[in-house]
Amino acid sequence: MNPEDLKYFKNFLTNRLDNLLKEGDRTVEGMADSSETYPDPADRATAEADTSFMLRIRDREHKLISKINKAIKRIDNDEFGICEVCGEDISMKRLKARPVTTLCINCKVRQEEEEKIKGL
Ligand SMILES: [Zn+2]
Repeated sequence: MNPEDLKYFKNFLTNRLDNLLKEGDRTVEGMADSSETYPDPADRATAEADTSFMLRIRDREHKLISKINKAIKRIDNDEFGICEVCGEDISMKRLKARPVTTLCINCKVRQEEEEKIKGL
């Protein structure tokens, strides 16, 4: 991949990571608020639902953060944009749509078909 494109993806991913980390801080602040005690059970249930909703978001954010970190590492190691399975270049179109991907479209389709067969 040419250095200009690599720079583009590195900037993009670094910004994305910064934003996610900032959002993560906000989620933690929100959770501290919901740990107050609620005399009304209905209020408490709402607060607990909010907390589990936030935990799900945090879990998703956490996974995305780790994917972005790995993608940045692949840029540094000169492995970015190369399919993990077959070693072919991943198309630019696919990388722009999903910069954290590690599979080319053929391997991705195959993986999804295998998962479907296994019932995952
Ligand atoms: Zn592949």
